[in-house]
Amino acid sequence: MKEVRSTCPYCGVGCGVIIESQGERITGVRGDPEHPANFGRLCSKGSTLHLTASAEVVRQTRLLQPMRRLQRGAAPQPLPWDDALQLAADRFAGTIARHGPDAVGFYVSGQLLTEDYYVFNKLAKGLVGSNNIDTNSRLCMSSAVAGYKLTLGADAPPACYDDVNHAGCLFIAGSNAAWAHPVLFRRIEQAKAANPAMRIVLVDPRRTDTAELADLHLPVQPGTDVMLFNGLLHLMLWEGWTDTSWIATHTTGFEALRATVRDCTPQRVSQVCGVPQDDLLTAARWFATGASGEPQHRAGTLSLYCQGLNQSTSGTDKNAALINLHLACGQIGKPGAGPFSLTGQPNAMGGREVGGLANLLSAHRDLANPQHRAEVAALWGVPSVPDQPGKTAVELFQAAADGEVKALWIACTNPAQSLPDQATVRRALERAEFVVVQEAFATPASCDFADLLLPASTWGEKTGTVTNSERRISRVRAAVPPPGQARHDWRIVVDFARRLEALLPPPPGGRSKTLFPYEDPEAIWNEHRESTRGRDLDITGLSYALLDNPGPQQWPMPQGAPAGKARLYEDGVFPTPDGRARFADVAWRPVAEPRESRYPFSLTTGRLRDQWHGMSRSGTVARLFGHVPEPVVQLHPQDMHRRGLAEGDLVHVTSKRGSIVVPVQASRELGLGQAFMAMHWGGEYLGGSSSTGARLAGVNALTTSAFCPTSKQPELKHAAVKILKAELP
Ligand code: SF4
Repeated sequence: MKEVRSTCPYCGVGCGVIIESQGERITGVRGDPEHPANFGRLCSKGSTLHLTASAEVVRQTRLLQPMRRLQRGAAPQPLPWDDALQLAADRFAGTIARHGPDAVGFYVSGQLLTEDYYVFNKLAKGLVGSNNIDTNSRLCMSSAVAGYKLTLGADAPPACYDDVNHAGCLFIAGSNAAWAHPVLFRRIEQAKAANPAMRIVLVDPRRTDTAELADLHLPVQPGTDVMLFNGLLHLMLWEGWTDTSWIATHTTGFEALRATVRDCTPQRVSQVCGVPQDDLLTAARWFATGASGEPQHRAGTLSLYCQGLNQSTSGTDKNAALINLHLACGQIGKPGAGPFSLTGQPNAMGGREVGGLANLLSAHRDLANPQHRAEVAALWGVPSVPDQPGKTAVELFQAAADGEVKALWIACTNPAQSLPDQATVRRALERAEFVVVQEAFATPASCDFADLLLPASTWGEKTGTVTNSERRISRVRAAVPPPGQARHDWRIVVDFARRLEALLPPPPGGRSKTLFPYEDPEAIWNEHRESTRGRDLDITGLSYALLDNPGPQQWPMPQGAPAGKARLYEDGVFPTPDGRARFADVAWRPVAEPRESRYPFSLTTGRLRDQWHGMSRSGTVARLFGHVPEPVVQLHPQDMHRRGLAEGDLVHVTSKRGSIVVPVQASRELGLGQAFMAMHWGGEYLGGSSSTGARLAGVNALTTSAFCPTSKQPELKHAAVKILKAELP
């Protein structure tokens, strides 16, 4: 038996795993006791990873050879790799020649490794000459990126997991960590047990499992977080709990915000958010003082937040309003204190690092900054990087639906299930002239629309790196080779890019060597490392060898540093022009689609404990359906009673964009007028059952593609719907 250390491919906690294998078979997995993210623990998903790699699952679920569809709707036919890559290069080169570089687009994934992400980004921005590359991470964390940059000056989560053990107050907002980040939640439970004086506040419209551990649950009305946070600041100012000397020394912009929150009185906030005034006062005191109760004996407050803040048309404002509270009380840059956004995906952070989004460039550089564009062009050896922002996730598919983007390359994600407003997404995939899907799994939905299917490797087979929520870079290592003809993602991109290079007009002065000389992932990572020199995420002191021993490290780790940095801004200096953090003057705005008489329910979406995204991988494990076997819509029992609905009745859930049929389930986690559906269903799937007996339309048939104007993250957390009993034939 062979053992290989690697990283879990599910969530952003980034747990270390030890993969056991025999020959070319993965036989087991267990937590890595030496990995600092989990110290040996795994959740239900991580501990069943080996079951997703059995010979039977591979045979049933994996793409094993390149395939081409001669016409839409026809069965795909196998073709050799060389022919597949040449076909892709010919079609992309032809589209670029006829319509320009912005007629093509790449849609990638936070599941990709940093090395994969890097070459995709260089392919689009360096070779094709278009910034039309975006990622499904846009759906989970782009508001966190924008919030950090707006207030702290850089996209760098300042805290670390160990801060949970030092905090006096944990302020959890828009996160069901008990289900979405289970191993981190175990750490929270242990910290609370070790320190009973610790106070946990949960801000969430639903009374989730996370609420069971909380000392105070604030069940806000969906979308009212900015009002809540501004109201807490109002109370902190009124009670004298802010840290005036810290504000004066380390920040700018406080007076404008002070004026804005003046009318966020407890009475108004209570009315808008649906939270009792006494609870507002308690939350404000605990946050400001780290639950010590006395500002002169201030302990640390750590806020943990996730999609409830991010997936919103006010996503950037919500992030900024929460960070404002940390700045107002000096709750940052010390053990147990700081804003700490949790990433959903295993490598959403890595994608941010390499600039794998339509508005970013390598190493946290900004596309809008001419100097940054010049630096990246010099690094890559290209004349320039295009200055126009590319299309973000929703925009990219809208542009394809409008006929503007004509060739799409989709890697390691399933937009025909996971993007909001599925009718538009599917129209985009039908209208696009050429769709490439680079995937490990034969996912229904997106694969159904592919003209060319390229089989990719996946967890247990890949080599490279990922970065978790606390900026910790870990190695991903292969235990077995990819099955069939599947190839590594970086290899597919490099081989395609070299072919495309030969077809595109060379830059002025010609091209003496390929932009893609890599023969292994380490060569790509080394180029990425060089791009970080002098930047806030400088990792020039790190190498694959050091990630092997002593092991995973948190950035930054510049040349000469003995180790990575656990927490940022301990010196009170921020990466802004004047070194000061900036208060963001933000005011509450309602959700994009408030409920109304014809659509009287607020539908929110979220994760289940035992499933992952579109279930390509977790859906292959029968036991993971033991927790929740099928999609349902949850309603408060009183709402069900009023509508004459009984447990298990089939109902039509209808928004302005679509309608689906699912069983209804009573849940006291919800408030009146609220509905909840899990995000995981939406295509055909391999396990579980469905009482609808038909191919399932997922919740994204209903969700809105309205997005935050700054972060462009769509409002997946709220849509107005009506719910009516389905008439059985
Ligand atoms: Fe994997 Fe996340 Fe579970 Fe850890 S907590 S084992 S990273 S799914």
